[in-house]
Amino acid sequence: MRLYQWDGYATRFQAQVVRAWSEERGHYAVLSQTLFYPESGGQPADTGVLRGEFGEVRVLHVYEEEKAFGDVVHVLSHPVPEGAQVEGEIDWERRFRHMQRHTAQHILSQALLRAGGYHTIAVSLDSAVCTVDLEEEPEEDKLRQAEALANFAVYADYPVEAFWVTEEELAQYPLRRPPKVQGQVRLVRIGDFDLAACGGTHLKTSAQAGPIKVLKWERYKGGGRVYFVAGWEALEDYHAKHALLSRLALGFSTNPLGVEKPIQKLQEELYTLKGENQALKEALVEALLPRALEERALLVPASVLGELAKRLLSWSDKTFFLLSPEGRFALLGPKRMEVLEGLKALGAKGGGKEVVQGALPKEKVAEALDPKRVS
Ligand SMILES: [Zn+2]
Repeated sequence: MRLYQWDGYATRFQAQVVRAWSEERGHYAVLSQTLFYPESGGQPADTGVLRGEFGEVRVLHVYEEEKAFGDVVHVLSHPVPEGAQVEGEIDWERRFRHMQRHTAQHILSQALLRAGGYHTIAVSLDSAVCTVDLEEEPEEDKLRQAEALANFAVYADYPVEAFWVTEEELAQYPLRRPPKVQGQVRLVRIGDFDLAACGGTHLKTSAQAGPIKVLKWERYKGGGRVYFVAGWEALEDYHAKHALLSRLALGFSTNPLGVEKPIQKLQEELYTLKGENQALKEALVEALLPRALEERALLVPASVLGELAKRLLSWSDKTFFLLSPEGRFALLGPKRMEVLEGLKALGAKGGGKEVVQGALPKEKVAEALDPKRVS
């Protein structure tokens, strides 16, 4: 029996181990009844512990042996004996977050349907940032309306109820989402706001799922994917973003919502400086070229090493050795591999084809820069 379908807020239960086995990948148990929710419908599995005369084992994962009606299999940290009496306890904080994500998804899916006629075809609730996949490509203003509507449904504090109906009775219920199972069908009603077939765990009222924040959307498989956060996780998201903006604002001596301007200004200055820097580098390469041609072993700033080497490739009959004060070097010309071998004795490492690039210990720079290497 799946106890979580009767009471989403119960955390402890008693049961008997019906089946238990071990495989190379882990230890498994099926219980006479369980509160552990098996991963399904986009909602992650519960974790927790089983206690008994054998001690305490962790429940690491829970899954359905077969979809919807199969046994619920508990993946355990250690084996438990068949027939043992156990007390199970689920990790409540994790479950509550899952119920917030899941109930919020019901509310948001209904809000998306009402605001834009958008149909939910898949959901993912595996992490704090959840997704709803829509059949249709949504419009920005309809998404904003759906978000507002979802939060109105939160503040309306609708009761959330689950109940079972037979397949024959189903026709009487205007479901947002038709059932994926046959026989007795579990329906979940959120006041007069939403009605859907669902086997998952839900909050007692819509108010507990809020706030619901749509973060962004993108085109996905001919429709759209909407990203949202809900409940505690929405508050945590707000906290993290507010803290980040406040830190940035402090650095710019402004308020959190005023950081855009100084950042833009900084970007513009950066572009200007990059342009100036590039022009200076080009001028420096021009200025260094005659000396490099004459001396062929030359100390140059690391920032122009590559550019200068490229220019010297036109004099392919000569070997050149360019070295920066930090020990980075470029080698080119017919004797480049020979010179590299010589530099290796000083601890140099490097490689390449036309231009060999590498580095040697800084303290060896003076010693390495011997014009005889390239003559
Ligand atoms: Zn549900």
